[in-house]
Amino acid sequence: MTGILQNFDIYSFQEKLIEWYQSNKRDLPWRQDQDPYKVWVSEIMLQQTRVDTVIPYFQRFISKYPTLYDLAYAEEQDVLKSWEGLGYYSRVRNLQTAVREVEAAYGGEVPDDPKQLGKLKGIGPYTKGAILSIAFNQPEPAVDGNVMRVLSRVLKIEDDIAQSKVKKQFEGYASELISHDDPSSFNQGIMELGALICTPKEPMCMFCPVQKHCRAFQEGMEQELPIKSKAKKQKKIPYTVLLIHNERGEYLIEKRPENGLLANLWQFPMVPIAEIGKDHMVNWFEMEYGIDVELSDKKGDLKHVFSHIIWQLEIVAATTPSKETEDKRVRFVSRDELEEYPFPVSHQKMMRYIT
Ligand code: SF4
Repeated sequence: MTGILQNFDIYSFQEKLIEWYQSNKRDLPWRQDQDPYKVWVSEIMLQQTRVDTVIPYFQRFISKYPTLYDLAYAEEQDVLKSWEGLGYYSRVRNLQTAVREVEAAYGGEVPDDPKQLGKLKGIGPYTKGAILSIAFNQPEPAVDGNVMRVLSRVLKIEDDIAQSKVKKQFEGYASELISHDDPSSFNQGIMELGALICTPKEPMCMFCPVQKHCRAFQEGMEQELPIKSKAKKQKKIPYTVLLIHNERGEYLIEKRPENGLLANLWQFPMVPIAEIGKDHMVNWFEMEYGIDVELSDKKGDLKHVFSHIIWQLEIVAATTPSKETEDKRVRFVSRDELEEYPFPVSHQKMMRYIT
């Protein structure tokens, strides 16, 4: 046993946590059964996204793709459309790639072997632990930011949780703490405690089932933990987005590249204005897209924050005499047809400038 867990009553901690979880757990749609595919989908959706936001997406997604096979055989563009608005779209592309691999290599059965599961695209240590414990009841740790917060307080760990080596240490503690009788309730119990009681700001220690075990509480340090160094500031990138329509009332949209940020989603053309310069924008656009445009009025500004960059978007209306284009990634579509394409949130917001 590691030094930090000496004199820690693991058994009583497990018991208190699991008991509390059993009687206080929220009735969430992915908790209705232990189908590994549904657990998997829910865990991917819940990465970087709030539970309240995920619920309707999960319900729609599962009714559209009720089994792993439905998702494996679905069109990528339809799947992206079902994810529209949730953000971090590489999550769903990786999920579909991994589901296809499960279909091809494991006969459609999600593997319960940690090595096989951990090799699938998009399944990192946390998701692997969550699937193995929740769907297969295996005593595997599932450590995310939420769990690190709770454990850093309970065990009074003052290391910087932003460092990957510290995350590894937490996985070690979680492996030693986890209940072998009910790993599913144990892992979900810590996550639930972090979501409902041991919240980032002002944890509700008075209602906490493991208060007696909590070293940070005993020393009045619960507000000071966890220690987390700040992430680097995101770089700001300005774009001018052109809402270009022709005389048929059709709008020009383009598909983003296959790889990278928001891959394969659709958008209105974006001019990297810092590189091109305002004065050269029209010429550049005509060269790049082979379409003549005439700028009209400015419609507004939008900001979209990603984890590593910030888009500063100036939205400008424009017209064109063109009705078609030879470029396969670009097309003219009517206002109604726009609804059928998967757009990132920032571009969905621009629809309000379109009549
Ligand atoms: S006592 Fe407070 S700080 Fe400790 S685990 Fe419970 S809610 Fe978190």
